[in-house]
Amino acid sequence: MSSTRSLLSRSLIWFFTLVLVLQLPAFAQIGMGGEAPKAPPFQWPRSHPYDVQHYRISLSFDWSKKAVSGETAITFKPFEDNLTTVEVDAGEMEIKSVKLGGGGPLKFEYKDREKLLVSLDRPYSTADTITVTVDYSATPHKGLTFIVPNESDPSRPHQIWSQGEARTNHYWFPCYDYPNDKATTELIATVEDKYQVVSNGSLVSVRADAAKKTKTWDWRMDQPYSSYLVSIIVGEYIEVKDQFKGKPVSSYVYPDQLDNGRVSFARLAEMVAYFSEKTGYDYPYAKYAQTMVRDFGGAMENITATTMTDNAVHDKRSEVDGTSDDIVSHELAHQWFGDLLTCRDWGEIWLNESFATFMEAVWNEHKKGKDDYLYEMSNNQQSYYQAWFQGNRRPIVTNRYDDPDAVFDTYAYPRGAAVLNMLRFVLGEDQFWKAIRHYVKKYEWQNVETAQFKVAIEEATGQNLEWFFDEWLYKMGHPEFEVTSNYDGDKTLTVAVKQTQKSDDKRPWFPSPDVFIMPVDIAVTTASGEKVHRVWIDNRDEQFKFDVDSKPLIVNFDRGNYLIKRVKFNRGDADLAYQLLHDNDSTGRVRAAVELKQGGHSETAAKALAEACAKDQFWAVRSESAKSLGEFRTDISRAGLLEAVKDKDARVRRAAIAGLASLKDKQLADLFIDRINNDPSYQVVGESAKALGLTGAPSAYDALVGLLKQDSWQDNLRAAALNGLGNLKDSRSLDLGFKYAAPGNTPSVRGAALALIGTLGKGNDRALEVLTAGLKEPSLPVVFNAVQAIAQLGDPRAVPALEDFLKHLPGGVPAGAVVPFIQGIINQLKNAKPVDKKG
Ligand SMILES: [Zn+2]
Repeated sequence: MSSTRSLLSRSLIWFFTLVLVLQLPAFAQIGMGGEAPKAPPFQWPRSHPYDVQHYRISLSFDWSKKAVSGETAITFKPFEDNLTTVEVDAGEMEIKSVKLGGGGPLKFEYKDREKLLVSLDRPYSTADTITVTVDYSATPHKGLTFIVPNESDPSRPHQIWSQGEARTNHYWFPCYDYPNDKATTELIATVEDKYQVVSNGSLVSVRADAAKKTKTWDWRMDQPYSSYLVSIIVGEYIEVKDQFKGKPVSSYVYPDQLDNGRVSFARLAEMVAYFSEKTGYDYPYAKYAQTMVRDFGGAMENITATTMTDNAVHDKRSEVDGTSDDIVSHELAHQWFGDLLTCRDWGEIWLNESFATFMEAVWNEHKKGKDDYLYEMSNNQQSYYQAWFQGNRRPIVTNRYDDPDAVFDTYAYPRGAAVLNMLRFVLGEDQFWKAIRHYVKKYEWQNVETAQFKVAIEEATGQNLEWFFDEWLYKMGHPEFEVTSNYDGDKTLTVAVKQTQKSDDKRPWFPSPDVFIMPVDIAVTTASGEKVHRVWIDNRDEQFKFDVDSKPLIVNFDRGNYLIKRVKFNRGDADLAYQLLHDNDSTGRVRAAVELKQGGHSETAAKALAEACAKDQFWAVRSESAKSLGEFRTDISRAGLLEAVKDKDARVRRAAIAGLASLKDKQLADLFIDRINNDPSYQVVGESAKALGLTGAPSAYDALVGLLKQDSWQDNLRAAALNGLGNLKDSRSLDLGFKYAAPGNTPSVRGAALALIGTLGKGNDRALEVLTAGLKEPSLPVVFNAVQAIAQLGDPRAVPALEDFLKHLPGGVPAGAVVPFIQGIINQLKNAKPVDKKG
């Protein structure tokens, strides 16, 4: 789940937090600033006196009560002799009975409605295999979600879906709810006959009961896996079918979405084949399925049965802007990294998430090429820098964290993926994949921890990477380099590299390296071409001398941008301009494009950016050049951006329109209207609508109202029109805001309409009423938009509604992040002047 890329794994909680962080730059100031960091507590992997062999889970549901009735039989072997009691995780259940196998009742104690302590009928030894059967019911507020139509969205489907990670599966079936134990499962669910049930493993049978109009679905998974990956989905679906070596590879989409499903998941089977090849390990399970559900933030890699947001489905036109390959490949990669090999403990979560994030990029490299891969890795690094400078700091591998949900962060995803990219650089292509293949084969079906990965690398390649793991995984931070280059005029180039980072005194419990030791490629381009020198940085102060045949034209420190690092390498606009137009390395050109906007906005810089924008082979160099040009506001930059609006790549056109938008120039209105009516990209249309609004041109209102009438996939053209109207600030738009904020409209349109009301409704009683009513909506995205719009409205009369919202936070909202944020808005509103009333 990062800015332009599609969603990563995780539940709605992660989604909500991320939306807050991404969309509200003020968040850091309002919510998180100030307080001194506190040492997180130690978390040790859990010990267990028994080893679960098998779960047999039988379920039925009550839609009206959102309740589940179940019988779960847990078969296990003691790890010790004389085992007389067992503790099972069972959250907020009504326990009806506990029995031994098929036999007599067992005594039990239900502690804090969380731990089920079962007294066995006699002591058991390590030679025994015991089955305990729990009969129960529950109305889960975690782990299992019922989706039903509601007043604000009567078109919502009926669905039931589970979400086990990190530790919420024990709210719908009793289990050992921790990753360090693997078992086989059978899941049997009885539902109304119009619904399908999708679960782990292979489908054993579907039995219909014509009298009761029910079907009983029996899914069995014969290979062992961790309990957080057990999944059930109930809903109405149609299957997009494919296969890998005869095994079904399916995407379950809504019955009216077959064509869009075929478009969105066209490459799934090809991915299964490609990851089988890269890991050297054929997809090992009976089937792969990914099933779309409502209100799911991202996706979850439940073994053989991924759960995915229904937003991953899109129409053909959406593919002009991008595919769902990132989310699809991420979850698929987890079937190896996370499911076949599973982190032993949540502090080792990077072994799941960083690998899946890395494999997303590996898939993109396969489809789009190395430049796209490297650009994606640079973006992963950027996400990390942002987190670091906001004060979110930790080593990737740590046993100090607040709770398991807290480790699904920047370090688990992009920072870890960027570390794997460095590892690939350090080991080299062949050795890296050899190591990965050995690691996968050696630890198949097992739990893993980081040290085992390190040992696997040494076994496969002979390389002991203790130093690398220490720097990049067990310690935190990154090198801050100061680089200077000096040509002596006589065929010797000296490059001095200094490390200036300091340890973080505020977080003494997390060490950081004093010196980062790494190889780095320094590429020197002269008139006769490029030469790449690999050097080792071993000290805080290094000097490297290179023989060159003539004056260097480009000195590219870290060719390929593999290292996680910050660099100060002061070069003038002329040097950067030359690099932007001539460097063989696309990451060097991207860096030059970005750095050129930080100088004095010289003509040299503008000309080079305009030229790169028009001519570079790689779309990201063109789009980064357009972004930089957007900050210049000169005739050259304007001409360059106008040219870039014609680019064949929608991402470049979008950046160009965004750059032109900042000029707020009425003369550009016709161009924006042309893009609104003719661009194939939804995102370019959206950007053009916003830009048109900013021009304030007389023609803008009618053009945007015209766009408002167009139907489109997920209504995103209508939402784009409302965003444009918000920027236009024409008072006629407020009534349109009320119209489209009403229940019954799609969530994206309602969100945009609420934002419009927040912008235009100051002093309007109805605006206040509509926005505060939005806080009580059942849909979390609508609630989030209402909160944001209230902040924008700035009306102190909204304070009681926000205070009331804090008192009754809806389920699924992460209080730790949201409460301080809302409190910040309340404080701002209390200090705001009372608004003038406008009717
Ligand atoms: Zn993931």
